[in-house]
Amino acid sequence: MRFLLLISLILAALPAAAQTPVPDPVLTPLVAKVLFPPAAVPGSDGKRHLVYELDLANASPATAALQKIEILESDTAKTLFTLERDDIARRLSIGGRRGAESADLGIGQFGVMFLHVLLDTAAPTPSSLVHRISLRLALPNPVDITETVGRTDVSRVPPPVLGPPLIGKGFVAADGCCDTIRHVRALLPLNGSFALAQRFAIDWEQIDGENRLVKGNLADPRNYTIYGQSVLAVADGTVVSARNDLPEQVPGALPANLPIAEADGNFVVLDIGGGAYVLYAHMQPGSVVVGAGARVKRGDILGKVGNTGNSQAPHLHLHVMDGPSPLLANGIPYVFDAFTVTAVDSAGTPDFDKAEATGTPLTLTPLRPPQRLHSVLPLDLSVVEFAR
Ligand SMILES: [Zn+2]
Repeated sequence: MRFLLLISLILAALPAAAQTPVPDPVLTPLVAKVLFPPAAVPGSDGKRHLVYELDLANASPATAALQKIEILESDTAKTLFTLERDDIARRLSIGGRRGAESADLGIGQFGVMFLHVLLDTAAPTPSSLVHRISLRLALPNPVDITETVGRTDVSRVPPPVLGPPLIGKGFVAADGCCDTIRHVRALLPLNGSFALAQRFAIDWEQIDGENRLVKGNLADPRNYTIYGQSVLAVADGTVVSARNDLPEQVPGALPANLPIAEADGNFVVLDIGGGAYVLYAHMQPGSVVVGAGARVKRGDILGKVGNTGNSQAPHLHLHVMDGPSPLLANGIPYVFDAFTVTAVDSAGTPDFDKAEATGTPLTLTPLRPPQRLHSVLPLDLSVVEFAR
């Protein structure tokens, strides 16, 4: 009797969590989960960006035609962002594969929504998100359903603040955040799970005084403006791994049948502390001056920009991730402590690709005056000047 009394006293003293109501079961034809909790990053456009992936699987006996996805702050149910059917059709990739986009999920199909949420400048960063999905099931009598699924926390870890990876002017942030596809959607099935290490990667190239990425023979890596530039440590850190022996590729096309282990070419992975690791890829053969275990200081030279590994033009691929493996880790956002944006290629990736493939000048919109920025991420196709 005394024992039972003790138990009831203990139960009465338990915090309110023990009394949380059990949710009612609700049929959700689409099951959903966020692959990696997002973290907000301030961009060079003055806005904050959430970039993440929602995995959706159709567990119903009919094709699900997605009509609308609303991204809500889960505590307040306030709508932060809305995607209509045509937006979904550009962002939902069947099987997570680039080039297989659709707003419809067949029976048993899954797709990955590549999401980019712009946050209100004045509003606080939400602590968690949930997704309200409106869909139509193609049954003999079509059924409209709205379900709220895919709750995720938003990471509170602030993005690492980096120094310049290169010094000089005219550096172009290619395939950058947040709506390009080569890095942002580089979702890979590895070791039994999805991994997206390159989510916030930038391929840095450089323009000359005539806004050209390359001049002269396009097959000679030395004719690319950025070729041979010094690659710098963006923070104090310890080299985790490096490679220095792979040959230059001939620019103009990606190499065929390259083993996955050689994709980064000559590279450095730098542990900068706080759980963040920086990948520098595609450096010149013989130029990498640091090896595993080396301690470096911010601004130290690591190597030179080259065209090794899975690369079709000399460039510096740089990304930050939460682990030491350039492919298996999860890509995290980062900011540079100071840089100046002098122009933007508002004609987009096709204009950049043409300039790289033919030697024509980039179609640039200059910023007058140039914008000196602090602790933000340069967004896609910003033209940036880095000073020491
Ligand atoms: Zn890249």
